[in-house]
Amino acid sequence: MKIQVGGLSEGVHTYSFRVTPDELGLPAEFLDGVEIRATLEKTSRQLLLRASVATTAEVPCDRCVAVVRRPLGSGYQMHYVWEESDAEQIDPSEVQVIMPGQTVIDLADDVRQTVLLSFPLKNVCREDCRGLCPQCGKNLNEGACDCKETLVDGRWDKLKELQDNNSKQAG
Ligand SMILES: [Zn+2]
Ligand SMILES: [Zn+2]
Repeated sequence: MKIQVGGLSEGVHTYSFRVTPDELGLPAEFLDGVEIRATLEKTSRQLLLRASVATTAEVPCDRCVAVVRRPLGSGYQMHYVWEESDAEQIDPSEVQVIMPGQTVIDLADDVRQTVLLSFPLKNVCREDCRGLCPQCGKNLNEGACDCKETLVDGRWDKLKELQDNNSKQAG
């Protein structure tokens, strides 16, 4: 995922890459190739890279731990400058200084980071997922378990008790 920038003409250049999760050193949750589309705009003082990345990952449901395939997409931009002083006005996470004699930029690290950050921290297999029973661990999407009934009933009893007490006190 390297771009030859030595001798590149000024203006906008477009690139696309496809790499395997292995090539990027991604964990096993990432199943498919990673697609990268990028434009690189060269001016006299900098190269501005805008990249979008897309892939698929297996994400566990927070409630029932079933694994769901999810398409993931994200993007980032990076300024490459030749002079350290040109980096000063730019967000440090979005700028890299090109070393003297460097003719190639490698996107692999930034793409890997972007892909990892696109992995959702919260995920449910479906909106109405019932999750696992906290007592017996049964997947409630597959049907109710025996302990669920008593747990719910118990809660209602407690609530009813409180309401009864309250109305007694009020009356
Ligand atoms: Zn679920
Ligand atoms: Zn149960």
